[in-house]
Amino acid sequence: MNAIIDCLFKNDQIDTAVSWINKIIISKGKKVHDFTYEHWLRKCADQQIGYNSFFDFLVKSGVFLNTSIIQQFKDLLENRLIDPFVGHFTTVDEGTGRCRSCEKLLQNSEISDDEFADLKQGLMEKVLLGTDVYLGSKPEEIRRFQNFIQKTAPYDVVIDGLNVAHQGKQTFKYPDQALSSVVKYFTNQNLRVLVLTRKHLLRGTTLKSALVFATEDLSGDDPFLLCSAVQSSNTKFVSEDVFRDHLFRLGDFRLQNIFRRWQHKAQMQIVSFDKNGGVRFQQPRKYRTISQFSDGCWHIPYDDGTPRYSYELPATWLCLQPKTSKITK
Ligand SMILES: [Zn+2]
Repeated sequence: MNAIIDCLFKNDQIDTAVSWINKIIISKGKKVHDFTYEHWLRKCADQQIGYNSFFDFLVKSGVFLNTSIIQQFKDLLENRLIDPFVGHFTTVDEGTGRCRSCEKLLQNSEISDDEFADLKQGLMEKVLLGTDVYLGSKPEEIRRFQNFIQKTAPYDVVIDGLNVAHQGKQTFKYPDQALSSVVKYFTNQNLRVLVLTRKHLLRGTTLKSALVFATEDLSGDDPFLLCSAVQSSNTKFVSEDVFRDHLFRLGDFRLQNIFRRWQHKAQMQIVSFDKNGGVRFQQPRKYRTISQFSDGCWHIPYDDGTPRYSYELPATWLCLQPKTSKITK
């Protein structure tokens, strides 16, 4: 595929090349090669146009460019004749969302009502009712789930029970102790909690004051988790999963972008447990964690190669400010 894209760039068929790059991004296991990005950037530089399509791609795809490509991108933008930028590699204060270079606040992570409605519809239709789910889950179980959410939604927090139990393995003797701790953390705040779990995990466990939906032992329960969590735009969910499969299943570039922004906003991850039942969470960021433009400036997160867990976001950003020419006499 990368060779085809290279050929399309050579023949100035930029739009078609970009749509092929998008196909690579959403197809599982394929990677856009560095030389493809390099070729695209060279085209931008040759023609002094086409930068918009590259920026647009960064916003929609949520791709994190590596250090080499982001450096080339920075050099090109600093040296272009029309509307040059000055770039700085920097970090963002995670508490406030403030850029440490220009000191501006990044955009907040809000998702519009229309975007959220489309995401909800997409997840219900393509992920829950998509053909694949029937391989792991019976149609009756899906109907049972739909009846359940009709009666009990919305929720403040949805918990991936199996995932939490797995994470507590090193701290607790029994898997349900971790789950009870997490449930208690939220119900103590009078929040409406739904636990999604498998029937075998519930044996002998009582989860007081939480709603519980238990699937058959062999069901794929991620679609249930995601669909419960989009019943309201204020719902948070607890899981360490990255949901890449489901992201791909959405199939549509715009929906995938909304999904990623929603995931970064709604997902809470457990940092640690203590044996007395305390839980520490990494809170979702309040600022947008993908490439963004406001007040004439770009902020672009990139991957500097520092090892990170798959759910973690890169901490490194490129801050681009418009170059204002000083008049000297
Ligand atoms: Zn900045």
